[in-house]
Order: sequence, then structure tokens, then C-alpha cells
Amino acid sequence: MKIYNTLTRKKEDFIPLEEGKVKMYVCGPTVYNYIHIGNARPMIVFDTVRRYMEYKGYEVNFVSNFTDVDDKIIKKAMEEGIPAEEVAQRFIKECKRDMAGMNVRPATTHPLATQEIGGMIELISTLIEKGYAYAAADGTVYYRTRKFKDYGKLSHKNIDDLQAGHRDIKVTGELKEDALDFVLWKPKKEGEPYWESPWCDGRPGWHIECSEMAKKYLGNEIDIHAGGEDLIFPHHENEIAQSEAANGVEFSKYWMHNAFLNVDNKKMSKSLGNFFTVRDISEKYDLQVLRFFMLSAHYRSPLNFSEDLMEAAKNGLERIVTAAEHMRHLQKTAPEGEVTEQEAELLEESKTFAEKFDTAMDDDFNTADGISAVFELVKFINTNVSSDNTKAFLQKLYKNLQTLCDVLGIIIDKEEEILEAEIEQLIAERQAARKEKNFARADEIRDILLEKGIILKDTREGVQWKRV
Ligand code: AMP
Ligand code: ZN
Repeated sequence: MKIYNTLTRKKEDFIPLEEGKVKMYVCGPTVYNYIHIGNARPMIVFDTVRRYMEYKGYEVNFVSNFTDVDDKIIKKAMEEGIPAEEVAQRFIKECKRDMAGMNVRPATTHPLATQEIGGMIELISTLIEKGYAYAAADGTVYYRTRKFKDYGKLSHKNIDDLQAGHRDIKVTGELKEDALDFVLWKPKKEGEPYWESPWCDGRPGWHIECSEMAKKYLGNEIDIHAGGEDLIFPHHENEIAQSEAANGVEFSKYWMHNAFLNVDNKKMSKSLGNFFTVRDISEKYDLQVLRFFMLSAHYRSPLNFSEDLMEAAKNGLERIVTAAEHMRHLQKTAPEGEVTEQEAELLEESKTFAEKFDTAMDDDFNTADGISAVFELVKFINTNVSSDNTKAFLQKLYKNLQTLCDVLGIIIDKEEEILEAEIEQLIAERQAARKEKNFARADEIRDILLEKGIILKDTREGVQWKRV
């Protein structure tokens, strides 16, 4: 399996730190609104990387944070006159719902920045002890960028060029030793959430949050660190500077970055009116279509979102689902008994599609070619199956299709599977509503589920559900 590593700018063989295991950290969203379709790209792409690794037999520890304290969250809270925490909690819940719709599996751990402040303070203290950070007179703690000799190794930037870029900027009011130094801890402002620290009441900088959460949940050395390409600099460069200076070992072996999603060939922005949340899209399309669309391009190629391309994705997905439905239908009346000799030959022949799929995915997760292999399998199915086939044959062929689609997170057995993630999500939401004594919402959720044919039963062991 080869992975393109931003650090070396090469495709490299994937060799895990520990045999059979993968430790992977993906920077998650800042939760001040519904996630937009750009945010959905890394979620879908890296969920697919995780699924492929698992399919290859790795045990994946997948950590993805929610940034739940940030200027944008605070601004939104002030506008709405509610605590920042409430804004964050609300949009974490909404984000998880969108993830379920896109069949993005929950991470092994989803840490919240606000729950990890103690660890961040410890990490900052270590950096100060080692001479990599200093507290200014106003209590701000800065990272001493020039002291970290490898600074710029990920973004391939030369520190002196960065310095030249900064020369004209007047840093009035700032108490930095050097214009390149960045913030690890900042003093509170009136009305903002804050935590006590040895330097001042305040809150952490964004970069230190990820260094700490990766360390706590995965350890000092991890296999893969990932996110959108806009995070390479400064976010990931700064994470490396912090983690490697504090821990004394290489932080992550492989750095993966997805390219951006544009809309109608332009950068998505609210002012251009081409900004879509995942929730907006869900009103028109099943989010499976959005997932399929995202995987139709290689993750390192820029991807353009348009109505036409979504329609094409919808049709492509339908072709796969229809072939699956047809096979399920045939299975109902298919004769029992062993696979015939001729069927065995066909099964052997069908293996080539899985091999093609693996070859594509082994080459830096080329999902576009992976999908082509699935289409070839679908064509093979449409040409070769009929009501004469044995049940055993149909089941085996179906399983082959399902296995590949599972890696892509594409559900071909919709009734049974898409709901499962959604049901769990809604049940969790109902439990939370009950806890908050919001019985109207709890009842509403029960009704939503009932409409979908799901009956809930509250038992001493928890909520059980069954289909009507
Ligand atoms: P943010 O909430 O802005 O920190 O973004 C969360 C994740 O979404 C990061 O990995 C970003 O790089 C990624 N991201 C944001 N906008 C886009 C976009 N238009 N296309 C692809 N990825 C994006
Ligand atoms: Zn991060």
C-alpha cells in the first residue's frame, strides 16, 4: 500500500509503527455552524482510508477532534446570547447526524478541545521548560519558532522567506520576541470562556489542541496525520514544532492532505452565494450520493461540485444499487444446492475486479479507479446472472460486490444498513432530550422513528429497537 506523504512529497510504502496497527489523527471541524460540503470531503476521504485499512486487516485507532472553543464559536454565541458551550454542543450533534447520513463512521475517539485543557497546559509547560516557549508580560505564551530547527519541513517553506514576509508587518502591542512566534495560550477577553493557567486566565491556541489530543489518545508517535490541504501551513507545521520539541520523537510518519472542493469552479463562499451545507444537500439528495460524488475523484485532485456532477453521481450509484437489488430479488426464488461448475468459473473470473479495486486503492487510495472496478463488476453481474443461478452463487457474488462497496462506505442494502447508523444517532439524541427534560423533542424523535418503521422499547438495560 502506497501513501503520498506531504512531508517527503513522495508516494511511500505504508509501514506501520506497530505491525497490524494504525494510529491515525484527523483534524476535525470547528463547530459553530452546520458543516459545509467542503468539510465533508476530508470526513468522507479519511473514513474511506480507515475502511480500506481495516479491509486490509489493520486495526485502526482513529481519532478526530471537535474544535469546540474558538473565535467563531464565541462570536456566534454572543450573537445568539447563549453560552459558547451550547453553540458547540448543538453543532457537534448536528455534525454527527450529517456524518451518519454520509455513512462516515464515528471515530474511535472524538475528543473535545475544552475537555483536554489540563493536558494542553502541561504540554505548554514542557515547552517552556525546554526553552521552546515563553510567557510574555501580559500572560500570552508564545512558541519560539526559530528554535525548532526543522520548522518548515512539512510545508517546504524556508524560515528566512517566512521572516522576509513578516518584516513589514508591524506587531504593535504584541510582546513577541520574534514575528514568527505563534500563540500557545492567550489571555481571556471580557465575556469569553476561560480557564486558569500558570500564565493567566485564558484559553489555548488552536495548534496546541491537536498536539495534545493526538498525544493523549494515540501517543507521541503516530502513523498518519490528516486534514485538508489548507491545514498544512501553519496548523500542521506548528503541530510538528510543538509535538516534536516537547516529545523528542518524530510526531507522524505520514501526512495526508485532501485537495479543496470548489463549487461551480469557484471557491465556496457565502458572499458568492455558492455556499452549501451538507444539510442543504440532504434536502435534495440522499447523502450517499454526496459520498459517492466525493469518491469519484482522487482525494489529492481539486474537485468541482455542480448540479450536473451530482446528477451523474446519482445515476452511477443507482446503477450499483439496482444490480444489488436485482440479485437480492433473484435470491428469493433461486434454487438451493451447490455452485455449479460454470458458476464457479464465473466466480473465479469475478475476482479480477476485486484485484483491480485493490490495486487502485493500494496506489494512494485511488477511489476513482476503485469505483471503475466496481462498475466493471456491476456490468459483469448484469451480463451473467439470471433466474437459473443457484442461491449459493448469487450470495457469493453479492458478497463480493458488498465487500467493495463497504470499503467505499456505499450502502447497497439500504433498508437495513443506512438506518442503523441513523437509528443509533436518533436514539442517542432522544436520550439526551429526555435527560434535559425536553420530552416534546423526545416524543418527536420516537414518532420520526415510528414513521420509518422502528419501534422503541425502553428497558432497564437501555433502549431497544426493532423493525415493524
Ligand atoms: P475547519 O472547520 O475550517 O477547521 O475545517 C475542517 C476540515 O475541513 C479541515 O480539514 C479543512 O481543511 C477542511 N476543509 C474546509 N474547507 C474545505 C474545502 N472547501 N474543501 C476541502 N476541504 C475543506
Ligand atoms: Zn488539527
